[in-house]
Amino acid sequence: MSDINRNFVAGEWASGAQEIENRNPSDTTDLIGLFAQADLDQLDATLDQACKAQAEWSAYGMERKQAVLMNIGNELMQRAEDLGRLLSREEGKPLAEGRGEVFRAGQFFTYYAAECLRQLGENADSVRDGVEIDVRREPVGVVAVVSPWNFPTATASWKIAPALCYGNAVVWKPANITPASAVALTEIIARQDIPKGLFSLVMGAGSTIGQRLVEHPSVDAISFTGSVPVGKGIATAAIQNLTKVQMEMGSKNALAVMDDGDLDLAVSVALGGAFGGTGQKCTASSRLVVHAAVHDAFVEKLVAGAQAMKVGHALHDGTQIGPVVSAQQFKENLDYVALGQSEGAELACGGARLDMPHDGFYMSPGIFLNTTNDMRINREEMFAPLAAVIKVDSYDQALATVNDTNFGLTSGIVTRDLARATHFRRNARTGVVTVNLPTAGTDYHVPFGGRGDSSYGPREQGKSAAEFYTTVKTAYISAGVPA
Ligand code: NAP
Ligand code: MG
Repeated sequence: MSDINRNFVAGEWASGAQEIENRNPSDTTDLIGLFAQADLDQLDATLDQACKAQAEWSAYGMERKQAVLMNIGNELMQRAEDLGRLLSREEGKPLAEGRGEVFRAGQFFTYYAAECLRQLGENADSVRDGVEIDVRREPVGVVAVVSPWNFPTATASWKIAPALCYGNAVVWKPANITPASAVALTEIIARQDIPKGLFSLVMGAGSTIGQRLVEHPSVDAISFTGSVPVGKGIATAAIQNLTKVQMEMGSKNALAVMDDGDLDLAVSVALGGAFGGTGQKCTASSRLVVHAAVHDAFVEKLVAGAQAMKVGHALHDGTQIGPVVSAQQFKENLDYVALGQSEGAELACGGARLDMPHDGFYMSPGIFLNTTNDMRINREEMFAPLAAVIKVDSYDQALATVNDTNFGLTSGIVTRDLARATHFRRNARTGVVTVNLPTAGTDYHVPFGGRGDSSYGPREQGKSAAEFYTTVKTAYISAGVPA
């Protein structure tokens, strides 16, 4: 692929003044392509066109909208193999995960295709005689979608699908490190029966094109997934225009392993939660809070399990953990390994650069032992194949430790005790809680989001998405007959 991959602005594919290289983190000699960087004039032009297109789109019949979303979803699911391969090639997750992500992205579109037909309102009698009330949802307008690299197709899809479903226009600024997946999804959307300019792709740096997008007065709502500092900056920009904003950010998720659980299950849940996606998931189990009674037995199996995991090229058979996404991320990960050790944690395994036949960012999965919850490695999101074990003496201490964080996206418990499972489910201060399952891995038809620094604004996914992508209108209707 040596042609320049273009942006999709005001309904046309357009080059920019500059382009960037996209390279494979499994093998940096593999150039995936060159990607145009949208300029600020193109952004202005596409936002103008988006406003016009949105009015047209919201007037489309519901079945016509439904067909558009269904086509996009079906094509993603049918092409999960080749698009998953492209995703894994640029992001570094093993092929099975890349394929699974694209398929899931398709499911977001087919789910919201169905929601196009299910846009029910409410009605009520007024407190005034002879007056009826009709409450309906209307589109917000033009939605800016700003998405991260770690789920380049799924995260964008769980925003774009509901935005379109509820009658909005979309301007998408994907992460610049995974532009190929963005172009691939845009090619599918661009081929549909939609008004010119309803959907735009503006690739470029967050600090330039992203910043201008979130500051733009033509944007009615911003849906962002990414880091806390960038999220705070976006909220600050949004408030200047009183733009609606929804943000999903980092986390520091904990898995509590109780003394009454199945130990092998606990180990597989912990390994999957900690190292799936190379640990680069906002839902990763980076704190493993383990009851003292099973601590030693759990740790022995956990370390053996981590050491047995196969790190390798994302596209090769048998790879369980791919490379980390970039040189910068790799450096930050190694810094955290050094930090943990300087804080007094014991590195039981991994956390090191691996030599491979390919020039990529390969890191062995690392486990810290003898850690306390106040260490920085247990407070800050590392976004790395690193997990820390925290030993506790009781269930109560486990719950308190799980909740002792500024974040609050997911948490989990491994236990056979129904009373504990129930108590945990009710008292964990996170937006998602799991019982005998990894903290990562969620469905598409139910709400997703967190508390504390992890989220801001209405929940995403499922029916909850309507809260953000629509605005409610309350109509009072009288028959017009004088009383
Ligand atoms: P990031 O650095 O915050 O970037 C996220 C997106 O924001 C990218 O598209 C980025 O563009 C853009 N951006 C950066 N600066 C901007 C600005 N000033 N104005 C507007 N947009 C701007 O996060 P990341 O490194 O891509 O992703 C990792 C983070 O995402 C982690 O913290 C992780 O926890 C979080 N995450 C959260 C969830 C969730 O649902 N809670 C899910 C997945 C990931 P460029 O990078 O192209 O410059
Ligand atoms: Mg970043």
